[in-house]
Amino acid sequence: MNNQETEIQLIQITKKFGNFAAVQNVNLEIHHGEFFSLLGPSGCGKTTTLRMIAGLEEPTEGQICLAGEDVTYKPAHLRNVNTVFQDYALFPHMTVEENIYFPLKMKKVKYSSAQAMIEEALSLVNMTGFGKRYPQQLSGGQRQRIALARSLVNRPRALLLDEPLGALDFKLRIAMQKVLKDIQKNVDITFIYVTHDQTEAITMSDRICVMKDGLIHQIGTPDEIYNSPASTFVASFIGDMNFLEGQVVQKGENSVTIDVDGKPILSTRFEGTFSKGDSVVACIRPEKICLDKVCDSEFQNKFENHFQASIHRIVFRGTDYEITLKFGQSEIRLIESASEFNNKKIGDQLFIGFQKDDVITYLKECKKV
Ligand code: ATP
Repeated sequence: MNNQETEIQLIQITKKFGNFAAVQNVNLEIHHGEFFSLLGPSGCGKTTTLRMIAGLEEPTEGQICLAGEDVTYKPAHLRNVNTVFQDYALFPHMTVEENIYFPLKMKKVKYSSAQAMIEEALSLVNMTGFGKRYPQQLSGGQRQRIALARSLVNRPRALLLDEPLGALDFKLRIAMQKVLKDIQKNVDITFIYVTHDQTEAITMSDRICVMKDGLIHQIGTPDEIYNSPASTFVASFIGDMNFLEGQVVQKGENSVTIDVDGKPILSTRFEGTFSKGDSVVACIRPEKICLDKVCDSEFQNKFENHFQASIHRIVFRGTDYEITLKFGQSEIRLIESASEFNNKKIGDQLFIGFQKDDVITYLKECKKV
C-alpha cells in the first residue's frame, strides 16, 4: 500500500498552550497508504499532533502539508481528512444509514445517489444489513465499525484515529485491530493512529513515531523500534527489557565491556561515544537470555556473556515462566517456556548466557525512563 509518496508532512511543528509546549519541533513525513502510529505515554502530545493534522488545533509554529498543499491554517472541514474518536460520536437519533450518509449530505450528495456508497461502506466494515438500526441497538464494537464506515464513506485521503479501540474490552479490541488492518488493506487511505498501547502499535503499524513530553524519540518500523531502540525510554516503552547499570571498563573499536556488579558484560551495539569509567546502561531483552545448569564449552562458545546467578523470583504466566535472577545487587529477567522450566526453584544457582550483539548500551545520562 505504501508507495513512499508523501501524504502528510509536519515541519518544525510546535504547539503551546500558554507557556506549556505540548508538542515541540516535530518533523514528520507520513507516506501515502501508510499505517502510521503515534505512540507514547499519556500527555506526550499524540492527540494534540493529530488534532493539528485534522485542523482542530492551530500550531504555534511550523507548517503542515497534506498531499503537498500547505494547510497549516486551513479549516478542518476543507481538509480531505476524517477523524475517528474513541467515543464513536455517532448521532443517536439517526439510524446507521443516516449516520453514514451524514458526511455525504454535508457535501450535498443526494440520498438516492449515496445509497451505493453507504452499502459499500457497510460492507467494508462487515455490517451489511445493519443500516436500519439505531446506534443504541448496537454493541460497542459494532458502533466503532459504523463510526469507521461513516469516516470512510467519502473516501478521505487520510483517516485519523484517536485511540479508536480504547473503549472496547480486551478480546474485542484484538478482534477490531484485525478488522481495522484488513479495512486499511482494502482502501487506498493513509491511517494515522494514536495509541498508548505498544502492542497495538507494533502489530498494526507500518511505522511508529514514539513520543515523550512533546518530543519525538524515534520514528521507525516496528522491527527497528523493537530491535534498535534509540533511547532507554523507547527501550523501556516498547516490549520488555532488562536495564543493567554499570561502568565502562574497556572500549574497543566495535565493542565495549561494562562492569555490572563485578560481571564483565560485552556489548557490540551502543548509542553515542563512551570512555573508560563512563556510567552506562546495558539493555537486553529477556527473550535473548538463556539459562543452563552447566557452563560447558558449548555454552561459553555460544554466549560471549555468561555468568552464574541465583533464582530470586519465578512468575508462572500460562505458556511460560518469567524468571528473575540476582547477581550482586543487580537483577536480570528471562523467559522460559513451560516445557523447558523443569521444576526450577528459588535459590537455584544457574548460568545465564547472552550474546554481545543482543546488548545495547546507552550512556546513563541518556536515560530518559
Ligand atoms: P493521552 O494519551 O492521555 O490522550 P496525549 O499524548 O494524547 O495523552 P495530549 O492530549 O496531546 O496528550 O496533551 C499533551 C499535553 O498538552 C498534556 O499535558 C495536556 O494536558 C496538554 N493539553 C492538551 N490540550 C490542552 C489545552 N487545550 N489546554 C491546555 N493544555 C492542553
